[in-house]
Amino acid sequence: MQRQWLVTLQKLPSAGRQWDADVPKELLEDPACGTVDVLPGLCGDMHWRLLLERIGGQFRLSGEWQGAMKRSCGRCNAEFDWQMSGQTEREYMLGAAPADEESESDCEYVMPPGELNLVDVLREDVWLAWKAGVICSDSCKGLCQGCGVNLNRVACQCKQDDSEHPFAALRSLKLDD
Ligand SMILES: [Zn+2]
Ligand SMILES: [Zn+2]
Repeated sequence: MQRQWLVTLQKLPSAGRQWDADVPKELLEDPACGTVDVLPGLCGDMHWRLLLERIGGQFRLSGEWQGAMKRSCGRCNAEFDWQMSGQTEREYMLGAAPADEESESDCEYVMPPGELNLVDVLREDVWLAWKAGVICSDSCKGLCQGCGVNLNRVACQCKQDDSEHPFAALRSLKLDD
């Protein structure tokens, strides 16, 4: 585990801390580098621009991430690189969560000294942005209902062989007799 991705809130310098860095695919895929489910099939490292600052008694983590993951298209089944991006927006406080459930803050409470594993934070952000049934492109033609070929790659055979088409018989009629 690279120390770069472990922070201790109590030790945060007053100017805060910034990252503009690649988070290695190896870390995001390694179950030993955190407790959140690993990200499967990443195409490469992910990029993260991140700012951690102290505001009053709170710590604010904000930034943007992007990366790509191997997925299969919901229309044509082909594997493609799913481009993903999103925002990080979190607030932390040191200490135990207040007992009253009425507190409306979205703040996460961490016990001092406030150890954060940013690899887990990024994994969570990606899972929150996860979409089921992604398609390789808006113009994906999908699979032919007849012969099952990927219409993005090959011309469909069953369209040319129209002998079984219900209107094929009409074509042999001589209408001008
Ligand atoms: Zn597709
Ligand atoms: Zn076909």
